[in-house]
Amino acid sequence: MTITETTSSPVAATTGSREAIQHGHRVSVRGARKQYGALAALDGLDLDIEPGKFTVLLGPSGSGKSTLVRSLAGIERLDAGSIHLGDVAVSDGHRYVAPERRGLSMVFQDYALWPHLTAQQNVAYALKRRKLPAAEAGKLVGEALERVGLSAKGARYPSELSGGEQQRVALARAVVGRPSLLLFDEPLSNLDADLRERLRVEISTLTRESGATALYITHDQSEAFALADTVGVLRAGRLEQFAAPEEIYQNPATQFVAQFTGLAGSFTGRVVHAREGSVAVDLGGHVVMARGSEALGAIDDAVVLIRPTATSLEAVSDHAEAGTARVGSASAVTSASIPAVVLDVAYRGRGYEHVVECRYGVLGGVFDNRPWTRGTHCSVRIDPAGCIAFPVGTGAN
Ligand code: ADP
Repeated sequence: MTITETTSSPVAATTGSREAIQHGHRVSVRGARKQYGALAALDGLDLDIEPGKFTVLLGPSGSGKSTLVRSLAGIERLDAGSIHLGDVAVSDGHRYVAPERRGLSMVFQDYALWPHLTAQQNVAYALKRRKLPAAEAGKLVGEALERVGLSAKGARYPSELSGGEQQRVALARAVVGRPSLLLFDEPLSNLDADLRERLRVEISTLTRESGATALYITHDQSEAFALADTVGVLRAGRLEQFAAPEEIYQNPATQFVAQFTGLAGSFTGRVVHAREGSVAVDLGGHVVMARGSEALGAIDDAVVLIRPTATSLEAVSDHAEAGTARVGSASAVTSASIPAVVLDVAYRGRGYEHVVECRYGVLGGVFDNRPWTRGTHCSVRIDPAGCIAFPVGTGAN
């Protein structure tokens, strides 16, 4: 099923401007439940999106992202719970509003263009319900295609366009009717890396210019962080955390969120000191400082999750062992320095990422401007600012 038609909004008559001339819907989901046999794809999920905000739902395969976005679109019906778009209940125990009457449009992973229609006709199709004069519709279609850089290719059929171009047509089709809500279902997954990056910027710009509220789903953390005003991390049909990307990265609410948003690795040890949200964890010789959850107290076993940004390499020195953070002294807030050996090095364009092994485990994504040769003995420095400790046994596995 393809949803491209949009109902007219109060300001949709003011067409032709690239300004953000309308406000998006407020989206409010309460207790959303969708069951497939014994499996709860949505397990009592709550979600609130402010008008005009760009929200990205991030989660592993099977966490319920598509089910949620399809329920918002009206392609799926909830078993329980409610969805409000603006003040209107589009789905609750009594009411179900058809997709084409929800004032939204959706961009799909596989583009979902009509193969027998040209790019122009595909975009124009989204305006059909509006019954605009031909000249006005033609002007809107022309503008939308121009915005995605496809003015010269409007007469081509999808089969005559590249994947990236087809997705641009789908994007033009999604915004041409000035919907109040734009839904994106992994729209970049089928494109290669370079194109993905460019189209990501276009989606961000075009969506924000339109003033529509946007909900975008992906399993790609970097895509989510790059696009979102707010990121929701989804796990087993529930939101595990809903916050700005910076907050998610710096203060992940759970071990699952931390693991799913990029770690160099993790070490386990025993908490030897806990105060004001900060803990010292003895790994068995070296002590690392970390932000700790409130549940952690002294003598608890803890897992220290280490962001790649917290790691750096330095030459082995006489101070390597002595560089260990000492609890209760001024040096307790300093980084730990742990002897390690380089297992692997990968060139990443802007520098090199290393995999290193120390006696507490392996760390990946350790960045340096210069390459360290495999087998080199070094020290890995660990900055407390990028370390988060959780009680052992509260992780994703
Ligand atoms: P995601 O988009 O995060 O990969 P989905 O929303 O597609 O997750 O799926 C959530 C869970 O619901 C998965 O376990 C999936 O297998 C299951 N599921 C989704 N759609 C159906 C369906 N039509 N029939 C049975 N199970 C389904």
